[in-house]
This record gives sequence, C-alpha cells and structure tokens, in this order.
Amino acid sequence: MQRESLEIWARLGVGDAIAARGVRWRTGRTYLRGRELFKIELPDGGDEHFPPFVNISQSEVEERLLECVQGFGVRVHHGHRLIGVGQDADGVTATFATEHGEVAHRSGFLVGTDGAHSAVRHAIGVAFPGHTFEDRFLIADIHADLPFTNERHFHFDPPWNPGRQVLIHPQPDGVWRIDWRVPPETDPDAESRDGRLDARIRQVIGDGVPYEIVWVTAYRFSQRVADAFRDRSVFLAGDAAHVMSPFGARGLNSGVADSENLAWKLASVLRESAPDALLDAYEAERRPAALDNLAATAATMRFIAPHGPLRRTWRDLVLRMAPHSAWFRGRVNSGRLAEPASYASSAIVASAPSSGELPRHGNPAPDVVLPGGDRLRDHLGSGYVVVVPFPADGPVDLPQLVIGPDSVYGAERAWLIRPDGYLADSVPRARVDRLADPFSAFRDSTR
Ligand SMILES: Cc1cc2nc3c(=O)[nH]c(=O)nc-3n(C[C@H](O)[C@H](O)[C@H](O)COP(=O)(O)OP(=O)(O)OC[C@H]3O[C@@H](n4cnc5c(N)ncnc54)[C@H](O)[C@@H]3O)c2cc1C
Repeated sequence: MQRESLEIWARLGVGDAIAARGVRWRTGRTYLRGRELFKIELPDGGDEHFPPFVNISQSEVEERLLECVQGFGVRVHHGHRLIGVGQDADGVTATFATEHGEVAHRSGFLVGTDGAHSAVRHAIGVAFPGHTFEDRFLIADIHADLPFTNERHFHFDPPWNPGRQVLIHPQPDGVWRIDWRVPPETDPDAESRDGRLDARIRQVIGDGVPYEIVWVTAYRFSQRVADAFRDRSVFLAGDAAHVMSPFGARGLNSGVADSENLAWKLASVLRESAPDALLDAYEAERRPAALDNLAATAATMRFIAPHGPLRRTWRDLVLRMAPHSAWFRGRVNSGRLAEPASYASSAIVASAPSSGELPRHGNPAPDVVLPGGDRLRDHLGSGYVVVVPFPADGPVDLPQLVIGPDSVYGAERAWLIRPDGYLADSVPRARVDRLADPFSAFRDSTR
C-alpha cells in the first residue's frame, strides 16, 4: 500500500491503523543468480507522515474499510450480484440477483467497482481492450521465522528458479510472500499434493526452518484499460476500469486513487451544486493515469519476461553487464513502484507558476507541520482549502489554513488544494480572492 493510499485512508480515520499494522519498508534489493546487483532506497519524503510503502494483506485492509464505512452509516448489501443497468434522464436503475430474487435499486449515479470482469462495464457496453500474458506466477504466503531483512527482494535467475524470477516480500505477523514466475502449465494444487511446492519453498528458505503455508495461489494477468470511464451517470473505477501486472503495486493503489478522485467530484455535484461537467474531469484525470500505469507495468513485463530473441538478448546483456556498469544497472526493471499521478494538464488545474522550487499544480500538496502542530493533510478531504503563508488580507470564501512563511509553499503565494489533496491553483498572496470559485471553469458548460 503506497503512501498516497494511506493518506486517503487517513482522511477516513483508518490510515494510521493500517500503517501501524503493515510492515514498513524503504529498501528494495535486486539480485542476479543469488548475488546482489544493487539496492534502491525509497525517499522518506521529508515532512511526510507515512512511509513510502507498507505491506499488509489486501483482505485485511478491505475488512477495516468495510467497518469504517459502516461506521459512517453506509449500508452495505452483501449477496447482491449486479445483473442489469438501465439509465434515463433522472438516474440509474441497477438490478441485482439475490437469494430472495431480483431487487432493483434506483440512484442518481452508479460506480462500477466490480473488478476485472465488471458486469457494470459489460452492461454499459464499454470495451476493455488489451491482452493477457501467457506467463504464470505462483504465490505462497508462508509463516516462518526467517533471517531475511524487512525489504523487497527481487531475484533474477536464482539457482532455485533458473531462467525465471522470484520476488520475496515481508508481511505482518512473520508471514513472507514468495512469488515465483513459473511455467504456464504449473498447477498449485498438484504441487502442494506431490511435494514440489515444499521443495520450491525449501530452496528459498533452506532446510530445517519450520514453516506453515498461509495461502497458495497461481495467477496470470492482463494489461487492459476501458475505452471510457463514464457513460452518462455510470462510472467505472479500479480493476473494472484497468488491470495490470502487479509488479510495481499499481493495481489496488490506482483503484484507491480512482475512488478518491471520483468521490469528491460526486459529492461536490450532489451537495454543492457543482456543475455536472466536473464529473468529466474524472475520466480526463484517471484514464491517463491508468495508461501511464499500463506503460510502466508493460515495460517491466518486457524486461522480466521478454518475448522474442532480440528482447531476450537485450535483457540478458543488461543483466550480465549490470554488476559492472551503473548505466546497465539503471536499465534493470524489476517493477517501477507506484507513484501518485500528476493532473497538471487537467481542465480543473491551473497552469503552474514558472518558479522551479515551488510545489507543482496538479501534484499532491506536500505535507507540512502547521504552526499549531497539526499536519496540513489533517485538514484536507471535506472541501477545497486555501493555504496562505499569513492570514489573508482580502475575504476568502473557502476555509483558510495559515501555514507560516517558511514552508515549501513559500511566503508569496496563496494556494488552492482540492479535497483529494491535489494542488489546483495558486495566486500572488494579495489576489487570494481569485481562488474563491474552484468550479468557475465549468459554471456555464453543459454536457
Ligand atoms: C498476486 C497479486 C498481487 C497484487 N499486489 C498488489 C499490490 O501489492 N499493490 C497493489 O496496488 N495492487 C496489487 N494487486 C492488484 C489488486 O489486487 C487489484 O488491483 C485490486 O484487487 C482491485 O480492486 P477492485 O476493488 O477494483 O476489484 P476486486 O478486488 O476484483 O473487487 C471486485 C469486487 O466486486 C465484486 N463483484 C464482481 N462482480 C460483481 C457483480 N456482478 N455484482 C456485485 N459485485 C460483484 C467481487 O465479488 C469483488 O468483491 C495485486 C494483484 C494480484 C493478482
């Protein structure tokens, strides 16, 4: 789980608990045939509250989020399988199959977060072009007391999985995730039964160390992005809108970012009468983010599992030369870890001032400790916020945060931060009144 996801969950009140429960790590080590090639250190991010990444099971996070939304009074209906979507001028009718028969639910909007095989996406007829990889991966989560460091360990061509890769990650409670790239015909059940899985695990952890299997699965993955993320009042988010290789931790993290991006826009339209055109900015911001993620993960897959003699020769040359040359080491790709998308070219983000040192519009607002000791990000989430180095002279309609003149935001400008924590605009301090209406660009537009 990436820092920005933790920040989003912190706005719901569960970010700290998830971060505390997860394994924090900043170092990733890459090995070739058992020898370390290099390590990378993820930047700690100065004043940032959360580490760049924590490892924690997705199902555990989902349980916490479910408790959290129920605490907010959100009604969750289990056992409802969506089977139909109808739209008219006033909203959406979703039909569900339940054990008591079909039920229809009427709403102003519908968000399809129903995964890669999304029934919502099918119902609105949005195509999901891309391709599925032949390569197969085998995961075993094992509980064991191992001498490995709490770091990401990526092995190319280890003696115990020749010609392929193995990724090892620490999880909470002494659980280790081992992820092998395996031949396409690998069957985890058969391997569990006939001892081959035990042999694989022993090759990684050595003989004599007791271990217990927590979870085993095999997976194949696809690289796909939906042609559209919106059809009138219906939206797609998460794996329903995009799927990609897990190397780089971009799937869930980008789904969380989709949800945050869409949620505040829907809330603004429903509660604050923001123009409907604001909702188009969801696809305009998140589809390019998905395409960037697909490009990053596709490049990783070309390196990890090269197809064709030219690619394979190049990959092998890079790995062979990497121990001797920084230039080749820079070309080793075992997964480019997720980073928040930039919305610099979005229609609801103003062009950035040219000064190179200041934060960039369209990027997440850097966190700072406020004069009272809170952090800036504690005050984000429920609406637009104006950040000023000193109390503003003129009237400001939006909530105002005074952060002092010595922060990364400088002493000369007033800044507009969106509910999702992204910088939308900034103006000279004396012109703070110009930040009054974030939706002005859309006021007169109609769909
Ligand atoms: C091995 C592996 C490791 C990964 N590791 C990472 C990682 O480290 N970091 C990361 O960011 N991502 C990772 N991912 C990707 C991540 O798991 C997915 O991106 C994430 O699960 C997508 O969440 P989602 O809610 O969009 O979809 P899903 O998790 O697929 O959830 C969809 C939900 O919709 C429900 N549903 C489906 N159809 C219907 C219907 N007709 N009606 C009602 N409900 C329906 C399903 O039951 C399910 O509950 C990994 C994936 C794999 C396979």
